[in-house]
Amino acid sequence: MSTTNEPSFRESVDLMFNRAVALLDLPPGLEEKIRVCNATYTVRFGVRLRGKIETFTGYRSVHSEHMEPVKGGIRFAMGVNQDEVEALAALMTYKCALVEAPFGGSKGGLRIDPRQYDEHELELITRRFAYELIKRDLIDPAQNVPAPDMGTGEREMAWIADQYARMNTSDINGKACVTGKPLNAGGIAGRVEATGRGVQYALREFFRDDLDLKKAGLTGTLEGKRVIVQGLGNVGYHAAKFLREEDGAQIIGIIEHDGALFDEKGLDVEAVHGWITKHGGVSGYPDARGHEDGAAVLESDCDILIPAALEGVINLENADRIKANLIIEAANGPVTAGADDILREKGVVIIPDMYANAGGVTVSYFEWVKNLSHIRFGRMQRRQEESRHQLVVDELERLSSDKGLGWQLSPGFKEKYLRGADELELVRSGLDDTMRISYQSMRKIWHEREDVTDLRTAAYIVAIEKVAASYRAKGL
Ligand code: GLU
Repeated sequence: MSTTNEPSFRESVDLMFNRAVALLDLPPGLEEKIRVCNATYTVRFGVRLRGKIETFTGYRSVHSEHMEPVKGGIRFAMGVNQDEVEALAALMTYKCALVEAPFGGSKGGLRIDPRQYDEHELELITRRFAYELIKRDLIDPAQNVPAPDMGTGEREMAWIADQYARMNTSDINGKACVTGKPLNAGGIAGRVEATGRGVQYALREFFRDDLDLKKAGLTGTLEGKRVIVQGLGNVGYHAAKFLREEDGAQIIGIIEHDGALFDEKGLDVEAVHGWITKHGGVSGYPDARGHEDGAAVLESDCDILIPAALEGVINLENADRIKANLIIEAANGPVTAGADDILREKGVVIIPDMYANAGGVTVSYFEWVKNLSHIRFGRMQRRQEESRHQLVVDELERLSSDKGLGWQLSPGFKEKYLRGADELELVRSGLDDTMRISYQSMRKIWHEREDVTDLRTAAYIVAIEKVAASYRAKGL
């Protein structure tokens, strides 16, 4: 993806960390303690498939244990390597600190192309990988809690939870050993859409501040804004769908591994997603102009660019040609440190990954709490809330008729007001609150400190200060 003189992903994260930490006054040695990755476990294991033993390589990296459990997804992809999981684990530390999810940072990966295996084979491989991690406490409700990432989803998380249950038959909190499970296996409503939803809430918060908009050379609302999405996987798809359907944004470009689609009038995200699911890519999609060269679309003129796939897609080689005003990093590490310098020079505003894609881990946190409390959110309060609202509505109606005032409640008000919140609504409310509050903590630093000229540095400053405070409190 990147040019030869580009630093590796982990070096890129370190460079960004260093830029921010230089503006802080940490006690000697603490900076180094926070930056370094505590441990990375590499496992090679064999699985008997199609009559022969195949050997797989996997990793689980723990970046910081200033809070436990540590948290972060497990990725299934051919590009997985130690440098990558360590960079991703570091980002998890900062991400969790920024959004106040009470976890340290971790990440895992298995070098595999999941498309080469059928469901039963994938189950054998996933369970074996999980077994290796569980027996070393690298999956454990109190110590290390994985989640989905690229190439994994609800199905894999259910296998991991079940593997843990088999190996820890009396652990009453066992379900909290992994998040992103299906609803019927201890999951939470709204987890699948959470990262995309978080991108939407992040953009809404950005658009609430005129000064931020001005810095990005934008005005108005999300309505009609021209958006290009790179990668229509779980995160890109949900972000594009919600921005289009609920905020009126126009998704003018979609870039996938086999090419891109472009339509100045806006693409039908649902239809494109359906096509990709069926055909494995965008090629042949009949209702929009197709481009074999995805890079050209990435560099097209737009208001908002959402890289939602791999790391390093915006790098030293193409950063100069990016024309978006605003980039929101739905993926982890899509902009390299060198590209970040170039884009900052050009005045492009970047909403950084550690904030922009934190919706996933935020809702994972809610799922973990749900598992530990053994009760669905809203189960105790919902009907009580409804009956209190009923009292108000009854009273308004009584006043209106007793006094002959002829008041009429507006259409739909009664239904909306009377309905108590279910789990999905509570999850969305908690996510919205988290995205707003953490954005405001970055914005404050961005606006108030003269030496901070970008949101990424502001985000690192908030996160590093929180991690440092927790090390200090522990007496390290
Ligand atoms: N893999 C996601 C991330 O990179 C989610 C992690 C989690 O939910 O623990 O943030």
